[in-house]
Amino acid sequence: MAIRKNAKAPEERLEADKARLEQLAAQCGEEAGLHRPLNDVTGGVITGIPEETDLAQALSDRETSDLLVHLLDENREQVERALEKLRDGTYGICEGCGRRIPEARLRYQPAATRCVECQGHWDRINGRTA
Ligand SMILES: [Zn+2]
Repeated sequence: MAIRKNAKAPEERLEADKARLEQLAAQCGEEAGLHRPLNDVTGGVITGIPEETDLAQALSDRETSDLLVHLLDENREQVERALEKLRDGTYGICEGCGRRIPEARLRYQPAATRCVECQGHWDRINGRTA
């Protein structure tokens, strides 16, 4: 059962994020007309890239380009997982400890499927430096 107490449902935000990420992934393949600040293009969907990075510049740098594609993939997967959870009613429940993810975290990061502690733990296991 979906509880709708906010005007803007998380599902809407997640669908919008997903569409943007898919578009970005397509642009990464094209590598054309991308002379805009990366954060402009991503609208803040992607986390983990320095704000001042230019998308075209990022794509011309092999290493950054790989990172970008990887981050896009990762972010899209995350958004899809959150959407799945919305559908089966487990949205907002931490995958790690099963407790509720704080509302403030979900507002800031609607695609979050873990609480801050469990996410930190997961990031360490998966070799990510956060
Ligand atoms: Zn947790």
